[in-house]
This record gives sequence, C-alpha cells and structure tokens, in this order.
Amino acid sequence: MFLLRTGALLLALGSIGAQAPSPPAPYTVLSAEGRRPLPTRLINNQEMFALDDLTKLFELTVREDNLAGGLTVTAGAQSIVLTPGQSLASVGGRLISLPAPPARDGRSWFVPVDFVSRALAPALGKTIELRKPSRLILVGGVRVPRVSGNVELVGPLARLTLEVAPQTPHSVTQEGARIVVKFEAEALDAALPAPSAPELIQNIRVADGASVVVDLGPRFASYRSSDVPGERGAGRVIVDVIAQSTTAATPAPPAVTPPTAPAEPPPLLDIPPVGGLRTIVVDAGHGGAEDGAHGPGGTLEKNVTLSVARRLKAALEARLGVRVILTRDADVTVELDERAALANNNKADLFVSLHANASVRASATGAEVFYLSLEEYGDQAQRVARGETEALPVFGGGTRDIEVILWEMAQARYIEESAMLAREVEASLREKVPMSPRAIQQAPFRVLVGANMPAVLVEMGFISNADQERQLVSDGFQTSIVQSLVDSIIRYRDKLAAPRPAVPATGRAGGVFRP
Ligand SMILES: [Zn+2]
Repeated sequence: MFLLRTGALLLALGSIGAQAPSPPAPYTVLSAEGRRPLPTRLINNQEMFALDDLTKLFELTVREDNLAGGLTVTAGAQSIVLTPGQSLASVGGRLISLPAPPARDGRSWFVPVDFVSRALAPALGKTIELRKPSRLILVGGVRVPRVSGNVELVGPLARLTLEVAPQTPHSVTQEGARIVVKFEAEALDAALPAPSAPELIQNIRVADGASVVVDLGPRFASYRSSDVPGERGAGRVIVDVIAQSTTAATPAPPAVTPPTAPAEPPPLLDIPPVGGLRTIVVDAGHGGAEDGAHGPGGTLEKNVTLSVARRLKAALEARLGVRVILTRDADVTVELDERAALANNNKADLFVSLHANASVRASATGAEVFYLSLEEYGDQAQRVARGETEALPVFGGGTRDIEVILWEMAQARYIEESAMLAREVEASLREKVPMSPRAIQQAPFRVLVGANMPAVLVEMGFISNADQERQLVSDGFQTSIVQSLVDSIIRYRDKLAAPRPAVPATGRAGGVFRP
C-alpha cells in the first residue's frame, strides 16, 4: 500500500477548524479479511466515525435508551455505554476516555475516531491499532510495519536506509533491474524518499502490498545489504547500491539511532458532577463460595446481606421511585470488581454495599459505616479527591492507543459525596439500631475503589456477637436497617440540591480490605 501523506496533510488542515471545511480523507481498515475504507466527519473540530459504519464493519448492535439519553453499543459479549455530553464511556464497566462526547446529526450518531482503539478493542477483545498519521486501522494483529527511508550518497555508492518498526522478517533480492525488499507483512505503512541519485536509483516504491522496490539506474553494478537491529523493537535495512568501475573501500554501516516516535498528549477526562438519583446499586456482600463471616449460631454473612439487600431494593423502589439493581440476587459468587463494574455500566448514582462484621472480641457490637480511604491509592488519588486536578489522569500502554482510567481513581472524585452519604447513613442508623463506638470510618475497601459514583459500605452489626447474630436474622432488625438506609438516602438526595458543606475526614480502620 502507499503512504498516505496526503491524508496526513488533510488531517492537519482539517484540525485548523471551521475555516477548512474540506472533508478529511477516509481511514483504511486493514484486517485479515482485506481492506475497507472508513469515512470520517469533522464535528466540532473532532474527527469522527459514524456509528452506523462501525456497526457494519465490526458487527455491533446499537441501542438508544431514550429515557436515560444514553447509547449502548454491544460488541461481542461486552457493552459500551456512551452518554451524550460526556467524553467518558464505560466498557464492560471499566471507564475509558474519549477526546470528545458522541455527537448526533439527524438520526446518526458519531464517535471520535479514538473510539475504535479505546472502546471497541477492549470490548471485542481484539487488537485494534489506530494510526492517525497514516490513517490506518489495523484489526486483529494484522502486520503492517512502519517503513521510512532515506538515501545518502557515500562516495561511490548510494545507501538506502529503511527504518522498519517493528522489526519484520524480510528478504533482499535482485530481480533484473530492481532490488526487492520483501517483508513478511500484510501491508506497509511507508514513507519513502524521492530518488536523489538517478544514475544509481531511479525510483523507490511499494509494490505487491509489502515489498519496497528499488528501480536501478544505468550505473548500477552491484549491491549489498545488511540488517542493523534498532531500539524499541525497530530495525534497519541498509541497501548499498554500488556504481560501476568502483573498487574503493566502502564505509561501514552507520551507528543506530532510535527512531523518535511522536507522542500524542494523553486525553483528559471530563467527569460531570453527580446529579439526581435515578439508579441505585445495592451490593449484597459475599455470596456463593464466599460465606463472609460466620456467627456463633451458624448464621452466614452472605445470607444476611442478601436478605437485607432484597428488602432494601423493594423499599427504595417503592419510596423513591428509583431503579435499584442488586449485584446478586442469589447465592452466587461475584468478584469485587464486577460489583463496581455493574454499577458503572448501569450509570448508577449511588452504590451501597451491605455487610455484617466479625471480631475476635465477642463483645464487639454495633453498626459501622465506611467510605473509601485513599491512603492506599497514592498521591494522585488524593489530589483528585481534594479537587487539585480538574481531570483524572489516564495511563496508556506504550504505543497503543488504549487508555483506561486507573481503576483506583474512579472513586476518588466522589470521596466528598461518599463522606456526606456515610454521615447521613450513620445518623439514620443511630436512630434505630445499636452503633459501634467507631460508627463512621474510612477504609481501603476494594469493592468501593472502582465505583464511579458516591459509594458507602455498611457493616450492619457484628455477626460474631451472639446477640447481634440473633438480631441480624430477625425481621424487626432488618426492617430497621432498611428504613434507616432509605431515610438516609432521601436526606442525601435532598441535600444534593443544597450547597454542599465541606466534610472533614474522620478516623479510618487499618488494614481492612475485604469486609
Ligand atoms: Zn463482609
């Protein structure tokens, strides 16, 4: 294939803005099935693909949720949830950033070109590489090395140096008046030099998809080639084209300098503030293979949490008219990260995790309310929580375009709201059930870390205490817990409308990860 320098030029012009309305060149999608053009549109200075085009190419289904105003793209077994006005998308519950929100034109939806590498690739579990400068999309590990070249005259010879990234097996042969460098690849993403020594090299071009062909000039006598390994997985192919009547010693191959890869600045995330309450996720702790804590009378924590979760769901739906999703509605094992992922995927506004505590001290009693402590999660999370950064950082995987928010960062933005919710829960519980001396605490609970919404964890009581074990399974106690939680969520909702007070951090438990 040919170098798409014209495409890169158009892209550069297009990014200037509305003054340059010429449509950008299409991308080319290369896969094992062949190549397909994929047109783009400039919308608000962002290059975008039509979701309809992606749907055909990648066998997606798109469902528009008119009620919630969102878009759900099903790719393989995974769902990608997009929200108009938000440049943050959820891929199987994990958050990814896009350079711009999805855009609508008539009945069609458009997504930034980065959607294919950042959202589709992880959703489909496929390698999808987006090469913006050459306007290529490489699907499924198709081999398309970048090849750039230059020619220099070194005494009696013309030296062609091809930089190849990644290093790719190849052969160099002479075929009549041509030297052919044939790469084991599906195509080349090539930037080749114009010939500067026509007596030796008349032309340098790509042929048969993955070969660089050197058309030889009239003074050609012989050639030699050598390979020099480069850095970062790149390689160099050096072809010396030697002129007639030359016997002079020729210089040694040059020293290798690593190719410089232009780095795009990482995109920043734009997370909107929390709004009203529409969806609440209630997490019944443990389940399946995980019993949680055992009471002295044989009560299992996982059964208590499920019972209270079901009752809380019914009460919240009845009194608040919200959608309530349970992370489990049966005695099944659910991973901690999956629980937060479910909440993220459903764009939940609150996450409430239910547990029952255990202690080696049989006298320990009372409910405790937790929100996340950031101390285990580094300076960055704490800066985010203090509002010192406007946006969350993302990390990238080397040269790949895939970027994912650190799972550990999702909750950081919501610490203040989570603290406020925890205070309401603690105050409401105190009216109806016994409280622990440390009724509100911060702890690094794994289940809260990835939740992209205010989140609290409630230890309803100490199941390890015989009296509390009996309470925890009783109808009256469970009703009190449920009523307290509903009351506190209503108060929290009502306070959201009012100006938010600063919430001082309180004491935190040490070393507790899995309640
Ligand atoms: Zn627990």
